Amino acid sequence: MTAERLVVIGGDAAGMSAASQARRLKGPDELSIVAFERGHFTSYSACGIPYWVGGDVAERDDLIARTPEEHRARDIDLRMRTEVTEIDVAGQRVRALDLGSGESYWTGFDKLVIATGARPVRPALPGMDAPGVHGVQTLDDGQALLESLDRAPGTGRAVVVGAGYIGVEMAEAMLKHGFEVTVLNRGEQPMATLDPDMGRLVHDAMDGLGITTVNRAEVTAIRTGSDGRVRAVATGDASYPADVVVLGIGVEPETTLARAVGLPLGPHGGLLTDLSMRVVGHDNIWAGGDCVEVLDLVAGRTRHIALGTHANKHGQIIGSNVGGGYGTFPGVVGTAVSKVCDLEIARTGLREKDARAVGLRYVTATIESTGRAGYYPGARPMTVKMLAEYRTGRLLGVQIVGRDGAAKRVDIAAVALTAGMTVEQMTALDLGYAPPFSPVWDPVLVAARKAVTAVRRAGTA
Ligand SMILES: Cc1cc2nc3c(=O)[nH]c(=O)nc-3n(C[C@H](O)[C@H](O)[C@H](O)COP(=O)(O)OP(=O)(O)OC[C@H]3O[C@@H](n4cnc5c(N)ncnc54)[C@H](O)[C@@H]3O)c2cc1C
Repeated sequence: MTAERLVVIGGDAAGMSAASQARRLKGPDELSIVAFERGHFTSYSACGIPYWVGGDVAERDDLIARTPEEHRARDIDLRMRTEVTEIDVAGQRVRALDLGSGESYWTGFDKLVIATGARPVRPALPGMDAPGVHGVQTLDDGQALLESLDRAPGTGRAVVVGAGYIGVEMAEAMLKHGFEVTVLNRGEQPMATLDPDMGRLVHDAMDGLGITTVNRAEVTAIRTGSDGRVRAVATGDASYPADVVVLGIGVEPETTLARAVGLPLGPHGGLLTDLSMRVVGHDNIWAGGDCVEVLDLVAGRTRHIALGTHANKHGQIIGSNVGGGYGTFPGVVGTAVSKVCDLEIARTGLREKDARAVGLRYVTATIESTGRAGYYPGARPMTVKMLAEYRTGRLLGVQIVGRDGAAKRVDIAAVALTAGMTVEQMTALDLGYAPPFSPVWDPVLVAARKAVTAVRRAGTA
């Protein structure tokens, strides 16, 4: 029997999870696996880059879950520094370019996995490629940033462009290096994944941590000195001195190859898949991770959400299906957590503007509480905002900003959203309580009670 060949494009979370799971289910006699990765690393945690740059994680290699050699020892033919430049869908083959030798060749496939991830947004502004301006997408980026920081130790000035979760995590990392940190944010408040009233809390907390945040700041140029290195970041009406600039302005699905051959893309530019993560209309092509769109189970629409938590699940499911098992990915509720220093930031479900965009009427309830019993040493405040559907009281979304265990409380809401619970049903949830962990009424339950009242009032108004 000739083994089928699985070809994987992209050697990180989604791609190598798929390859590894397929290999668990089928040996090399049944399935040969060839994976192409154009970068220097495979199976690494980009999520850990802010903590490595900030010094919480000592070594770059601590972020590498599995080396190329470890993959190869499991009979996965992983070809590093090799870029796939073309997919021939009808001919069932991909063209690969060895970036070291310059050699280009075709490899046939029976099954193909596209796991090409996302590419960072880099506006074509003057000075964007100047030394001292850094993205943080890859381990190479992280290494280059650390080298830049060494050039301006201690008293330097860092400007972070973008105030999403990567921006705020990198602001913390810069602070830990002793830099004076300014965050330039295009939006109304930092963390646009929150409603502006909750983003305001993040802004205030960043102020308290010594991070200057400038909202509604549109970067127009990176200014450089006579040596060509970055000196400042210009916005429409101001200039911010900088020894180092970190970019965290978001990502777009990397679907260049897929687009070129007409594979189906969604409204956000990501590949469209069915529940088994097979590309719509193509029986032998799967896609997962940051290059696909996912179904938002609350809004009922697809979205592009670039998160490692989804990429790993996609890879596992693809690998199961490719390897003769079975798995599906039903969609997401939009859960994400982050932090800046000791301030924790969490969200799940819909923001107010998301609810409006899909025609849902809603009520909101916002409460202040603490992560432990108020009398227990170390109790710190947290704010919980809850959205519930008008009349039905169905939970629509939760945002939490606070300290001391605030972030992972959002998981209660993620489960409730997935289960389609009403806020009234949530008030009866049997959550754990002891003074060191929670007040007797957990902050999420307090918010649910307030939301119940808001639903009742709105329903009778
Ligand atoms: C700084 C940072 C912090 C993050 N923090 C978190 C977090 O806290 N929580 C979370 O859930 N997520 C986080 N993420 C997101 C997470 O890292 C990504 O969602 C995840 O890595 C996506 O995995 P992927 O396999 O889809 O794509 P990627 O990890 O981008 O891998 C795609 C791979 O494909 C390769 N490739 C692309 N095109 C080709 C080609 N044509 N030929 C060959 N190879 C190709 C690329 O080189 C790349 O290695 C963070 C990301 C960053 C950058």
